[in-house]
Amino acid sequence: MTREDLAEVLEEIALLLELKGDNPFKIRAYRTGAETVRQFAGDIVSLARDGELKGIKGIGDALQQKLHELASTGKLGYYENLKGEFPESLFELFGIQGLGPKKVKAVYENLGVDSVARLKEVCESGEIAALSGFGAKTAEKILEAIVFKEQNADRFRLGDVAQPVMMILDALKLHPDCLRVEAAGSYRRAKETVHDVDFLAASANPEGLIEYFVNQEWVSRVIAEGATKASINLENGLQCDLRVVSNDEFACALAYFTGSKEHNVAMRGRALERGYTLNEYRLAVKEGSDAKEPPVFETEEQLYQFLGLDYVPPELRENTGEVEAASEGDLPDLIQLENLRGTFHNHTTASDGHNTLREMAEAAMDHGLQYLGIADHSKSSFQANGLDAKRLRAQLKEITELNSELMGEGHQFRLLAGNEVDILKDGSLDFDDELLGELDYVVASVHNAMTLSEKDMTARIIKAVENPNVTMLGHLTGRLLLKREPYAVDVAAVIEACAETRTIIELNCNPWRLDMDWRWWKYAKEKGVKCAINPDAHRTSQLDYLWFGARLARKGWLTRRDVVNTLTLHEIEAFLDLDPIS
Ligand SMILES: [Zn+2]
Ligand SMILES: [Zn+2]
Repeated sequence: MTREDLAEVLEEIALLLELKGDNPFKIRAYRTGAETVRQFAGDIVSLARDGELKGIKGIGDALQQKLHELASTGKLGYYENLKGEFPESLFELFGIQGLGPKKVKAVYENLGVDSVARLKEVCESGEIAALSGFGAKTAEKILEAIVFKEQNADRFRLGDVAQPVMMILDALKLHPDCLRVEAAGSYRRAKETVHDVDFLAASANPEGLIEYFVNQEWVSRVIAEGATKASINLENGLQCDLRVVSNDEFACALAYFTGSKEHNVAMRGRALERGYTLNEYRLAVKEGSDAKEPPVFETEEQLYQFLGLDYVPPELRENTGEVEAASEGDLPDLIQLENLRGTFHNHTTASDGHNTLREMAEAAMDHGLQYLGIADHSKSSFQANGLDAKRLRAQLKEITELNSELMGEGHQFRLLAGNEVDILKDGSLDFDDELLGELDYVVASVHNAMTLSEKDMTARIIKAVENPNVTMLGHLTGRLLLKREPYAVDVAAVIEACAETRTIIELNCNPWRLDMDWRWWKYAKEKGVKCAINPDAHRTSQLDYLWFGARLARKGWLTRRDVVNTLTLHEIEAFLDLDPIS
């Protein structure tokens, strides 16, 4: 049981009580409880397990009991019983975009919708459009969301697999027969979503390692088990495959199973030109060729080198020019997580964040950052408790004071006072230029009216970046991976406008977004557009998203010179034309 598991159970209870039409205060108590569990600054799982939740604000007696049961046994009778009152398939509805708890309740009660299949039927028959509070447009949107979900079934966001992957790697490394192990495949290439994860291990005792792998507690189902290969499902449905090879085969196998297919084709072509065949286990002299016998490769680097190539980092292996670049010594020196000195787009409790300015500042210092940009929402994002001019100016003052205080305590650290200003439907901004001019920097983002035509959306965004107060453009396409498609926008035209106006483009590294998409960064870089890697953190723990940011920036061929977060505090002060803190 993790903190998130506890919070999710409480949230689902709230939903189910809502469907039952239960007491709103009781429902609220569960929602508050979920939030409290998520935010609690301490080991709430242990406290719950040991029955020591007394006195924590937001968790009453009834919830203490339930959390204790859940954390100590891994199950909660009350929740199981409640779930038993509804058909299993009802829970599929919770994952459909645009269908919040209220709408689930309405379709469940009025139309008997208790599964995605039935939901699709009532969308197509027009019954849902006739329901009060719905209408034809909503029905169409829901149908689109269902199709989108069907198309993306069995895919996982990189952010959802990173932790299980590390856990599995750690477990495999502990086994005495495991000589080396890596997660290969699209995960190693840092694709934004993955279908499954391929683990590759080297061992002289494959059977022992396979047996150990399929018997771990996190395995929910063994799909296949052989002498050197096994496939399992984790509880969340993610399929993980383990393949065991000999230590001598490991380097070639790692290259092969990392892919991509297209990159491998290019590598095989390169081997053939030199008189060799390359497969998943080895490089061998091609029949009839007089090429010299190749050595055993201990590392991927040696294999690349033997084929006359610089080592191609896994993130670049998409056959988008990396093999040619590697043969000419032209590969970029990719950015690394350690190069990041600060970041710009983060929220606090002033809008919809969960931590205060000070907590965010301390967390950033713990991450070794020299500056942290605060960009809370502006007033039009009322659903996110956006700030009006008065509250923004008050926050500015608070930031100035906190900066002096931190400086007084001897920290070489600065909060930057920004704002994530809404780009309104016509491309104007949510605050006037005078106020924007008082800020250290400005992130401009689209948060509403996402159904404009491509032409109108493109014009809207270009108008915003043409405002000289806009420092950077937030999450360019508004996509939510596996949940919401990007809105219609001409990305190339926006990049060109940003080049023209010297506007930075954000790589929003919240794993739901990873927006702008990695496929566009090479073009942006060619145009001279700089990147800002921003976690869009709404709580201190989300500063960890910078890890995804660095991976995806690498995938976009970016070096430290392309990313403004690599500037030191003094450099960023000069770049943003800020006076040093006094
Ligand atoms: Zn935003
Ligand atoms: Zn944001």
